[in-house]
Amino acid sequence: MIEEEILILKEISYKENDKILHALSRTRGKIQIISKGSKKSSSHLMNASQSFAYSKCTLNVSKDMYILTSAKLLDNFYNLNNNINAYYNACYILELISYVAQENEVDSRVFDMTVSVISHLSNFKNEHDKLTAAYELKLAAMLGYKPDFLHCLHCGSSINDKVKFSITEGGVFCSKCVNFGNGINVTYNEILIMDKILKSKFENIGFIEVPKTIMNLIRKFLFYYIGKDNFTTLKLL
Ligand SMILES: [Zn+2]
Repeated sequence: MIEEEILILKEISYKENDKILHALSRTRGKIQIISKGSKKSSSHLMNASQSFAYSKCTLNVSKDMYILTSAKLLDNFYNLNNNINAYYNACYILELISYVAQENEVDSRVFDMTVSVISHLSNFKNEHDKLTAAYELKLAAMLGYKPDFLHCLHCGSSINDKVKFSITEGGVFCSKCVNFGNGINVTYNEILIMDKILKSKFENIGFIEVPKTIMNLIRKFLFYYIGKDNFTTLKLL
């Protein structure tokens, strides 16, 4: 028997009363869990066996499956149901982390950050797209692709002017070194915005002005490194 914190990414109906849950766990990455009887409204596992449920649970390990034996619901981010944009962004976060956690070893920082961004999506009245962009950039950084926005990749000097941002090389080229790398022209202010997003907590993201072009650039950057860009839930956004 093990104790684990889990976030349910997906619930799949199984047999008459059971569910198979795809979950992000705090210390074991992505796992599959059988939740017996959880389709019944009388089940003590019902609330913890739904998408977005965040709970502290006990699991039995049997062969290659985890079996949910008890669960204490910590949050189900109920407010997501009251804001369609928050809900769609949160659905995309679940699909994104489901893929990333399957392909990579993710640590507890990724788990904590995922729970945190969904909590903020559920509590914020707007700024949901910005929260998602911040999550994408921070996720890329946690996976080992943290760009240094403030120093030139080629000469190392401090950035204080317009630059080229290179997705493939994972950083910036200063105005003197633009010919050494491929990239997209970005203003100094846009570089500062991305650096600020990387260093800010989710609760402060609303205070940063983030142009749509920068949100798109962040998404392109993450997708390049995780090797996937066709997430189904993206069509909702
Ligand atoms: Zn340079």
